[in-house]
Amino acid sequence: MKFPSMAEPEGRTLGDEEVAALERVIRSGMLNSVWGTEARALEREIAELHGVRHAIACSSGTAALHLAVVAAAPDPGDEIITTPITDFGTVAPILAQNAVPVFADVDPSDGNLDPAAVAALIGPRTRAIMAVHLFGAPARVDELRALADAHGLALIEDCAQAWLTELPDPAGGGGRDVRLAGTVGDVACLSLQQWKHITCGDGGLTLTGDDELARRMRLFSDKGWDRSAGRSHAAFGLNYRMTELQAAVARAQLAKLPGVVAARRRTAVQLLEALQGLPGVRLPRPEGHAWWLFPVVLPGGGAAELAGKLRAAGIPARAGYLDEPLNHAPVWQGPIYGASRYPLQGYAPRPCPEAERMVAETLMVIDWNENYTPDHVHLIAREMTRFLAPSSSRSDIGD
Ligand SMILES: *Cc1c(COP(=O)(O)O)cnc(C)c1O
Repeated sequence: MKFPSMAEPEGRTLGDEEVAALERVIRSGMLNSVWGTEARALEREIAELHGVRHAIACSSGTAALHLAVVAAAPDPGDEIITTPITDFGTVAPILAQNAVPVFADVDPSDGNLDPAAVAALIGPRTRAIMAVHLFGAPARVDELRALADAHGLALIEDCAQAWLTELPDPAGGGGRDVRLAGTVGDVACLSLQQWKHITCGDGGLTLTGDDELARRMRLFSDKGWDRSAGRSHAAFGLNYRMTELQAAVARAQLAKLPGVVAARRRTAVQLLEALQGLPGVRLPRPEGHAWWLFPVVLPGGGAAELAGKLRAAGIPARAGYLDEPLNHAPVWQGPIYGASRYPLQGYAPRPCPEAERMVAETLMVIDWNENYTPDHVHLIAREMTRFLAPSSSRSDIGD
């Protein structure tokens, strides 16, 4: 059975709407968002979706995270606490602003930052906390918000894998107002890269409710150039602008986002039901999950063997998600700028035993897709059951 992949048309929602959007922009003659209308419209639509005042479109998720670090304004050498299980795009912007990443350990049930581990690392040079909603599961951002407020820190939410992830009701009850991930941090970041829920190839957005942070990020994304004030450069900045072509495709994709996430939720819940009670595996909690990937944890280890068995059956599964947690990445050994180790003189990333064990032994991820059918779910359930409960006589998961 073939599993649709996000690298192929069968696993994407790219169609006539995106083609029409591109044609509209190309025929307009204006491909640059400084003078065009598409990127500004995308920003309005994303801000409205999240109920925040500002969205700023930029060239990638990594660029968005760089803008978020710029907004947090660390002094050189200041520390930003983040997770070792994430894309390197979360961490690179910390270095780009001459700040120091401090890795806190994760909750072994879902790989998201453990607020107690974060609290233990807050010191005099800590400037911000960067949380990642890993694989689309809500990170514990309410607890991190409280920590950040108690210590005067910025909170950044990396929502690159978490389009329409929902946060738990703070009152603990069945509140009716959905709170989306990205609405608790001072700044949140989204990605439109090829492998995300929706895509324009590459692209990113930041969200913030703060006018001053929005101004700083907008300036940095456009060479420090306040376009309302002549040709004058108010601040240091780069060119992180999104093009009109990216924005037009992203707007067409945004219209399809609710359907994408709903379909992923439907099949992920089917798989959860089929795997209920299987020994030796900790299943993900479905509440609020946006199912970028479908992660499982094998507390006793053996993730690589399980992934190998699933791959042999044609299922796109991988152990660990990363080759090594980012606190073990080779980058920390080398110079950062030229031959200099600045800003990492004397730096050694902290051990993160839970993250290390997840990546090496216990975490397995299955690529997820809005075009999976019950047949895909059935095959995954059958192969996982064969591996984890070989003598199972479960009648619902036969051949
Ligand atoms: C993809 C991703 C990024 C980086 O986004 P790009 O658009 O690829 O630059 C950052 N953080 C996380 C968690 C991601 O999944």
